[in-house]
Amino acid sequence: MLTPNRHLLQIEGMHPPEISALLDLAESYVLLNRSGTTQRDLLRGRTLINLFFEDSTRTRTSFEIAGKRLGADVVNMSVANSSVNKGETLLDTAATLNAMNCDLLVVRHGQSGAPALLAQKVEASVINAGDGTHEHPTQALLDALTIRRRRGRLEGLVVAICGDVLHSRVARSNIHLLLALGSRVHIVGPVTLIPTDAARLGVTVFHDMKAGLAGADIVMMLRLQKERMTGGLVPSAREFFRFWGLDAEKLAFAKPDALVMHPGPMNRGVEIASDVADDPIRSLIKEQVEMGVAVRMAVLDVLSRRAKRND
Ligand code: ASP
Repeated sequence: MLTPNRHLLQIEGMHPPEISALLDLAESYVLLNRSGTTQRDLLRGRTLINLFFEDSTRTRTSFEIAGKRLGADVVNMSVANSSVNKGETLLDTAATLNAMNCDLLVVRHGQSGAPALLAQKVEASVINAGDGTHEHPTQALLDALTIRRRRGRLEGLVVAICGDVLHSRVARSNIHLLLALGSRVHIVGPVTLIPTDAARLGVTVFHDMKAGLAGADIVMMLRLQKERMTGGLVPSAREFFRFWGLDAEKLAFAKPDALVMHPGPMNRGVEIASDVADDPIRSLIKEQVEMGVAVRMAVLDVLSRRAKRND
């Protein structure tokens, strides 16, 4: 059963049937998108605002396409040109958005918890498009959909999440989702880039690629989030690649048919080698982008049905 939450702020706390229902709906949007049909009536007359305080290529574009395919009026608010730079607080921004009768607000912010704060103040349904090091729920949903379509299930699979787990909201959302749906999660990286309380989440921690990738069905690589690092947590990009970068040699530690994922943007030659990233059989990276649109359509669909203005 779907819980009647009108926001999507995090995966943590979502119930497995709610996640599966979203994935099922997203699956139907994959088919619709591939058939070239649209459903422009669903969000007709609704306004979706993309409010991005941090850079984004895939996520913002993907929400824009998803909103437009469902018929919403989509506005991209660029923070560089907005009054946030003139000192307007987040809550003043919320008041402004309320006055504009925005229905769906997609927020990315450098501070963990910022979308949750906005959700308390705006009339719109808020979707977290990545907050600090906290969560990036739609990324985890699109990753799960990608895996489920390829492997037919999530239950019982071993997913190795590798690299800069400490600063990764993608890792956190994925850990919650994958464990909820019955996967086993390995997190793999240097001691300096693994959260100290990681094992408490129910994952198995490895500080060695060979051991961490053993038995993995999926190898998910993460970007080194230099912008969130204070001090030198890694010696150098070259050194990092030697020990932690995914190349064909390290991929051979995983199952012979293991598939490779990366949320993007990729640092080629740092956390992943180009030949692995571009491998047409093993890499799911392009498919992840396609699934992103379908998942976001499903999320907009579900939340718009629960929106306050419908009550
Ligand atoms: N695009 C993802 C995020 O916003 C991953 C990354 O930036 O490395 O978290």
